[in-house]
Amino acid sequence: MRFVSLKNVNKQYKGNKKKSVTDFNLDIEKGEFIAFVGPSGCGKSTTLRMIAGFEEVTEGQIEIDDKVVNDLLPRDRGIAMVFQNYALYPHMTVEKNIAFGLKNIKTPQEEINKKVDWAIDVLGLEEYRKRKPKNLSGGQRQRVALGRAIVRNQKVFLMDEPLSNLDAKLRVQMRTEISKLHHKLQTTFIYVTHDQTEAMTLGTRIVVLKDGIIQQVDTPSNLYNTPNNLFVAGFIGSPQMNLIDAEVVQSGSQVTLKMSDTVSITLPAEKSEKLKSYVGKTVVVGIRPEDIKDDEEFVAAHADHTFEAQVKVYELLGAEVNLHYDIAQTTCTAKVNPRTTARPGDTVKFAMDIARLHVFDKETEQVITH
Ligand code: ADP
Ligand code: MG
Repeated sequence: MRFVSLKNVNKQYKGNKKKSVTDFNLDIEKGEFIAFVGPSGCGKSTTLRMIAGFEEVTEGQIEIDDKVVNDLLPRDRGIAMVFQNYALYPHMTVEKNIAFGLKNIKTPQEEINKKVDWAIDVLGLEEYRKRKPKNLSGGQRQRVALGRAIVRNQKVFLMDEPLSNLDAKLRVQMRTEISKLHHKLQTTFIYVTHDQTEAMTLGTRIVVLKDGIIQQVDTPSNLYNTPNNLFVAGFIGSPQMNLIDAEVVQSGSQVTLKMSDTVSITLPAEKSEKLKSYVGKTVVVGIRPEDIKDDEEFVAAHADHTFEAQVKVYELLGAEVNLHYDIAQTTCTAKVNPRTTARPGDTVKFAMDIARLHVFDKETEQVITH
């Protein structure tokens, strides 16, 4: 069931030549956790603020729970919003900070107490309830800000980069907390982040934005495994997908992708078919670092798709090693077994798992085949 809906939503700020959001269409179901992700300036906050009612919609329609909300004030839309720069009242304790919004709307004291107790319990703030913000850590303060939003019992929670002021370790912890909160509340969440890992770990579905235009709306695993275009392919995943220019050459009834003088991959019949019309042209081959390896077993299993390259950089990350090398002018990465003996300067035999190869149209940047 559609719960939040954006129909052909456009936003052009006064004085700007370009639209900040163009033809945004999205239906969100009740209880979903939707993440908006994209680089800085791509229109994430603008879209969220239009849903919240803090920013006017230039064109199009927004519905929440079957009601058009374009002309409703934020407080009448059934939303609660958590910002990156949340401000707690410094002179109030944790429980007073959480209760403040409820007091403001004249909620009976007994009900306030019940809701504050519940929020404090859900967010694990019991031992801090009498403390003031200056005596809390960043993560605890962020939880108080969440508490203020959840006691208001709204239909939709909107969050704009709520974790970006926290250090890396805390961000990972709070990510888990937010995920648990969503499980407990089963409320609809719309969450803005520029961090693809955060979007991938939190979202039940993710909206990838670039220059105010939706690139793909999908589950984390579909975004990862079947990106629609070059932008999504490059944005989702770390280290980034290798994206290598290749010349399409006919070889018998099949097609070969020539990435350099020494690196060529002949595609199986089905994939070859999709590339027939590209013979003589340049396409972009996409392959994730974990689908290129140097260990004997992997190389033997993919013996038809091997190549040699000189290792330029060796990065040990603990559970894995990233090897960097060049294919023609492109620096590529292979995420390999940490037991690899390959070191900078070595010429190494790699293999590609071409079942996991993507090919993109260089002009339109759209996928040709996965
Ligand atoms: P994001 O949250 O993805 O970083 P924003 O939604 O804040 O991006 O911004 C999208 C685009 O709209 C940017 O080009 C930004 O400069 C512009 N923009 C944002 N807010 C305003 C504003 N109040 N007035 C004019 N332009 C704005
Ligand atoms: Mg923003």
